[in-house]
Amino acid sequence: MPDIPVVLLGSGAVGKSCIAIQYIQGHFVDRYDATIEDVYRKPVEVDNTPAVLTIVDTAGQDAFGAVRDQYLKRGQGFLLIYSIADSESFQNLKRIYAQLLRTKGDHSQMSCIVVGNKLDLAAQRAVSYDEGKMFASHAKCPFMEISAKNRGQVEEAFAVLVRSIRDKQSATSSS
Ligand code: GDP
Ligand code: MG
Repeated sequence: MPDIPVVLLGSGAVGKSCIAIQYIQGHFVDRYDATIEDVYRKPVEVDNTPAVLTIVDTAGQDAFGAVRDQYLKRGQGFLLIYSIADSESFQNLKRIYAQLLRTKGDHSQMSCIVVGNKLDLAAQRAVSYDEGKMFASHAKCPFMEISAKNRGQVEEAFAVLVRSIRDKQSATSSS
């Protein structure tokens, strides 16, 4: 079984690194160097089936918000992350998604989940649940609101993504 390349995408400060570290190390870090770009290798078990994920925590988009193409080309699963407390991060995510779709050509080469992070900051909510949900259905992928402080929610987001990657693989191999 080859490793599954998973890429975390989203504006700066939406919580990509916190989500990655919560998933891999099981704790919440309050501060993490915004310029660091990490790749983690994580053996996981989803629905009693093992898999190995290579998780890329991206950093440093260019001035136009564009993500480096190599991430998009290599990735198979994508967490498309915004902060529910930051509407600009939501608008920017739509641009990142458009760039992803252009790079991949169509939906057959990618699986995604749209993740509204910082659910614990609901008092400062700037993006409604319905807006997030609507964008996810436009992007043909599942949707979750989570907090990087909540380990169970982070694990569930990755599990949903792994399921969707598997569904796509079995659909491709049987057609
Ligand atoms: P990145 O630039 O997307 O990697 O964002 P970071 O993971 O470095 O997080 C940016 C800031 O948001 C940090 O100060 C984190 O502590 C904070 N943060 C990340 N996730 C959450 C969350 O779910 N809830 C809250 N309240 N803060 C978060
Ligand atoms: Mg980061």
